[in-house]
Amino acid sequence: MKIPVSQPLIGDNEKKLINEAMDSKEISGFCGEFIDKFEKGFAKYSDCAYGVSTTSGTTALQLALATLKIGPGDEVLASTFTNMATFFAILYQGAKPIPIDIEPDTWNLNPSLLEKKITPRTKAILVVHIYGHPADMDPVVAIAKKYNLFIIEDCAEAHGAEYKGRKAGSLGDIGCFSFYANKIITTGEGGMITTNNKRYADRARMLKSLAFGKKNKFMHQDIGFNFRMTNLQAALGCAQLKKIEFVINKKRDIAKFYLKHLSDVKDLQLPVEKSYAKNVYWMFHVVLKGSLKNKRHILTAALRKRGIDTREAFVPYNGQEIFIKRGLTRKSDCPLANIAGNNGFYLPSGPILSLKELFYVVNNIKNLINHIQ
Ligand SMILES: *Cc1c(COP(=O)(O)O)cnc(C)c1O
Repeated sequence: MKIPVSQPLIGDNEKKLINEAMDSKEISGFCGEFIDKFEKGFAKYSDCAYGVSTTSGTTALQLALATLKIGPGDEVLASTFTNMATFFAILYQGAKPIPIDIEPDTWNLNPSLLEKKITPRTKAILVVHIYGHPADMDPVVAIAKKYNLFIIEDCAEAHGAEYKGRKAGSLGDIGCFSFYANKIITTGEGGMITTNNKRYADRARMLKSLAFGKKNKFMHQDIGFNFRMTNLQAALGCAQLKKIEFVINKKRDIAKFYLKHLSDVKDLQLPVEKSYAKNVYWMFHVVLKGSLKNKRHILTAALRKRGIDTREAFVPYNGQEIFIKRGLTRKSDCPLANIAGNNGFYLPSGPILSLKELFYVVNNIKNLINHIQ
């Protein structure tokens, strides 16, 4: 058996809509009916008034920061345990990222660590909803209000996730999504920012398309970007949007299965779903503890031999050599993120996994762990 960590769910409607875009000859990011349709549809799905599509999750994050005029001299507090795109975006803008350590159970930023990192330069909190579990937003919002900070959500792994019944992407000033091939829904490569603020939506739309002038197109309004998603990608997105609930339900079913069959395995930490949360379980992330600590390599290599693909957890910002060398952070800055980063990995979580494959995964994990212990 060969079981990949993730595979997108692509059907006939995806092909049909891409062909429609092809036939219309509108294939750029400047024209075509699917761009507007996908933006409106996805924004509505995420309880937001506005959606502005981009070329990736990374560019969505940079666009959000640029929209809020965050740049040199500014500091942004961000969850250290994430895809490094979160931190690259802050650095592209010339701002300084300040890593925040995580909660050991959700692996999300710990809000109680925020306040002592705030300085007169702090402009924003960049929250990541890691692996599909929303961060604890009420305390984040309270701190942002108290210190007059923006909140940006990195929702690249959290399409459709909910905090107290409200959708990820609608909980701060701007939400940033990715539609890379392994995300909840995909446009191949792609991204979107969501917001309920018209000024932010207008400014983001202007900046993402080279900031062309209004009256005289080539008298530019600002230093813009070309972050335009193409009509072809948006056509794929429109087809994917129709199955987003199906994919999320499938991910939740897979998680339920893993939780049921792995909860009695000693020293294996499984994901949680807090009472405030709807977890969309983008990937089923586990952390090796106690007797299994530092055995990740042995376990994942043995699983790979049996055809089961896994992926190691993110290396946190504070553990990245490139940033330590530049004096931006130290490994010891976020000890809990180091534990998850060193001992975490995720299991196959794609929406087309069969029950047979899932049993194969859990049986092999249990056997291998028994041997290691
Ligand atoms: C995937 C991801 C990104 C980057 O998205 P791309 O579309 O790959 O640029 C950013 N943040 C997180 C948390 C991600 O998982």
